[in-house]
Amino acid sequence: MKKILLSIILGLSLLGGSYSCKVQQSDLKSGYANIQYVHPTLYSTLYQQNAAEYKALCYQAFNLASLQLQRELKATRIKPLAVVVDIDETVLDNIPYQAAAILGNFGYPVRWKEWMESASAEAIPGSLEFLTEAQKYGAEVFYVSNRKEEFRQATIRNLHEKGFPNADNEHLLLRTTATEKESRRQKIIEKYEIAVLIGDNLGDFNEVFETSDSEQRLQKTVENKSVFGYRWIVLPNAVYGGWVDVLPGYNPALNPGTLSDSLKSGLKGF
Ligand SMILES: [Mg+2]
Repeated sequence: MKKILLSIILGLSLLGGSYSCKVQQSDLKSGYANIQYVHPTLYSTLYQQNAAEYKALCYQAFNLASLQLQRELKATRIKPLAVVVDIDETVLDNIPYQAAAILGNFGYPVRWKEWMESASAEAIPGSLEFLTEAQKYGAEVFYVSNRKEEFRQATIRNLHEKGFPNADNEHLLLRTTATEKESRRQKIIEKYEIAVLIGDNLGDFNEVFETSDSEQRLQKTVENKSVFGYRWIVLPNAVYGGWVDVLPGYNPALNPGTLSDSLKSGLKGF
């Protein structure tokens, strides 16, 4: 549980020093052997902030969510319909914090409170359009997030200012003592039928993924392959998440340079 708990903190705890990287002619000749490593999240942070492919994947995810919603609207049901979304890297973009941390040579939790309270995160591409559509069709939107309770008002303000529907206390289920989300999903299921779950972390979908065992995460993903793209919609997040927690060699206590080296133990060469 504790591992999953780190989900938000994770990549955010991957922050740390930024390492200057001077490429010498001799380095190029020796196949980069002498080049110092840059921050472990540099490429993934650049990807999420710059790649058109990242945006395309987000649109793809919310287009699939829309198809799923339309299917559910046609089905007969007793309870009213709900759409359940995670917040960070699902509907709000926190990657500017990560970019600032790399540039500013600091790590989580330095300046995290400042970032949260700025309530300035932008909407993830396609998220606002989809949730507006869900509201239009009468589905209620619930935000199930592991943000801390102290950031409740800032989170509501951020969602509200970006135009997200149901941005209020009743629809915002933050972490309490536990970071696992199953109990919060069950609370929603008591009164609603969930049309679709949307998140960037497997723990956003089912408790079977709430494990620190990387093999189990992979195995459960294969077992549930027919659910992805239907009831479960996954957003890309290469910067942080449960997947990082279970990497061999991952240790948030290491400085970024040492961590880069340690993470090599997860590589599978030929
Ligand atoms: Mg998330």
